[in-house]
Amino acid sequence: MARIDLKSLAHSYFPDPKTDEDYALRRMEHVWEDGGAYALLGPSGCGKTTLLNIISGLLTPSHGQVLFDGKDVTNLAPEDRNIAQVFQFPVIYDTMTVYDNLAFPLRNRGVDEKRVDARVREIAGMLDLTGKLKQKARGLGADEKQTISLGRGLVRDDVSAILFDEPLTVIDPHLKWVLRRKLKEIHNKLRPTMVYVTHDQVEALTFADKVVVMYGGKVVQLGTPQELFENPAHTFVGYFIGSPGMNIMDCKIDDGAAWVDGQRIGLSDRHLAAISKQSGKIELGIRPEFLTLETAGSTKGSDGVEVNIVKVEDLGQYKIATTRFGASEIKVKLGEDEQVVGQSGILRFAPEWTKLYADSQLV
Ligand code: ADP
Ligand code: MG
Repeated sequence: MARIDLKSLAHSYFPDPKTDEDYALRRMEHVWEDGGAYALLGPSGCGKTTLLNIISGLLTPSHGQVLFDGKDVTNLAPEDRNIAQVFQFPVIYDTMTVYDNLAFPLRNRGVDEKRVDARVREIAGMLDLTGKLKQKARGLGADEKQTISLGRGLVRDDVSAILFDEPLTVIDPHLKWVLRRKLKEIHNKLRPTMVYVTHDQVEALTFADKVVVMYGGKVVQLGTPQELFENPAHTFVGYFIGSPGMNIMDCKIDDGAAWVDGQRIGLSDRHLAAISKQSGKIELGIRPEFLTLETAGSTKGSDGVEVNIVKVEDLGQYKIATTRFGASEIKVKLGEDEQVVGQSGILRFAPEWTKLYADSQLV
């Protein structure tokens, strides 16, 4: 297994790129530590597949380098890189048995048959494929074919890393949950460097020790699920992680506070000191979990914001209230027993959880 470094990595599919927009990856500096379980999370089109294909060697980057344990592999062919890759759709041989499909990556490397047999049976056991080893892949369903693809990705124990590109897309929801847990177990047992691409935050947060969030061809944050929740480094991370995501609003800093649509929002001293050095567009972000909504005759006081209550949705274990003041629509997470009375209320922002962003970056 290996540590993977990306140095100034950039890629454009255009022969003669001119602006930043022509790049699918933009000057990426990034490290994946040996043995880590990483999720690579980001919206469709942000460059996830491009990045994986560059790491595995299917694609040569326009600029920069890929290093495995310090060795430059940028120009090595895929077969010389020792990477296993699992794609979104099954890549298997229909006319072969499940056994031969699983054995293929090993036989291809000249592994002796005794060892092949042991590994195939071990992986088949982990993925509940033991009973199907003698069947031809052709007759199997999409779920089973993709499970075989996963097995082919996992069967070698000498790879530098295993890359999964949205591997559970075609799998039905229940099996998805089972396979995700199995991948996690396999990681805990064998400790390969795993990079698991998804655009689904639940999948990312349950699989990974560390989550890498990509946006617009760049890594905007690498952190534990808790770090991404508590301290989103970029407004996109705040908005993308969490359900619902972070509330983000334009604000002005004046008189020792943030002002949103003419209402005052108190800030911590630390935030005030940091923001005084910033210029450009300032945004205020707060997660729905860190807001309190008071109704039934509560008074504004010095730190309350008067809001209209647009709607309250009951989602079983919690409720989401949508509130509005001026142009801002703000979501508040309420406990299942919390009552909302009337159409207006006072919103309180917890200062330590009120984040400020200058040009989308956490201050
Ligand atoms: P993701 O996997 O995150 O959805 P991709 O890496 O597939 O993103 O795509 C990143 C960007 O590169 C997108 O704008 C996409 O349209 C573009 N792109 C991807 N593959 C090609 C290609 N073969 N030719 C031209 N543009 C491509
Ligand atoms: Mg993709």
